[in-house]
Amino acid sequence: MARRQIFATNWWSQKFLKILEFMTGDTRLQRGRSYARKGAVSNLTILPGIVVAKVSGSRSKPYQTDLQVPVFDAATWQKIIEILSARAEFVAKLLSGKMPDNIEDVFKTLNISLIPKIKEISIQCNCPDGELPCKHLAAVFYVWSSQFDQDPFLIFELRGKNKAQLLYELSAARNQHVKTALSDEQTDNLETGFPEKSIFDIKNNFWDFASETPAINIQIAPPKDKGTLVKSLGTPPDWVDGEAFIDAVVEIQRQVSLLIATGKLFVDKK
Ligand SMILES: [Zn+2]
Repeated sequence: MARRQIFATNWWSQKFLKILEFMTGDTRLQRGRSYARKGAVSNLTILPGIVVAKVSGSRSKPYQTDLQVPVFDAATWQKIIEILSARAEFVAKLLSGKMPDNIEDVFKTLNISLIPKIKEISIQCNCPDGELPCKHLAAVFYVWSSQFDQDPFLIFELRGKNKAQLLYELSAARNQHVKTALSDEQTDNLETGFPEKSIFDIKNNFWDFASETPAINIQIAPPKDKGTLVKSLGTPPDWVDGEAFIDAVVEIQRQVSLLIATGKLFVDKK
């Protein structure tokens, strides 16, 4: 039996679908889902501030729909990048292609919301239904939510910043944070009279544990992650074997981490 298509499995896309559920009743939701499942929605395009799509209905010519939300201006984006980049866990998660769970907190500090609020959304369809959202728009909400579910970066794009721009600006701002933190640390050390060491001191004593070195307790376990990073980086451009590259790297990562975790990778120095 064919499984029913679920349109939103993650919190961000579910939050978006809740808007539609709030806007209309069960009958239109059902009709919209049915249109979406049978592939009535075509040419769905996401641009900054607007999602446009065609929906095949009862007439031969598809209806034109659009859903618009405000984009954030450059100054707001600058503040968003600044706040996000100060948090290493946000940057790491976004760089691995995932949406941080509490990302909305960042937007809340600026009195805005990443997922549009109902009052920010304006919708249009050229069908004669009269009431909005019509079943065609409901179908568009479902299809868009399904795409958004797979690719959380689509919401950033809708808000005016595409994935490449966002990740580039986040990385650059993050590097700047790290540099500033390092130079502050060096300044602090000078101010607190921390002794500076020459390269020769370091070279001569590099392998010696200082007496005050605390006991180091390291626990190694295989990562729970199944290759998100390599998947988001993708196959090298000249690789001839397509998907096989990613599968191979994920498998190597699994085996090596297992060997490390079980202590079998360390070379016996006897
Ligand atoms: Zn319509």
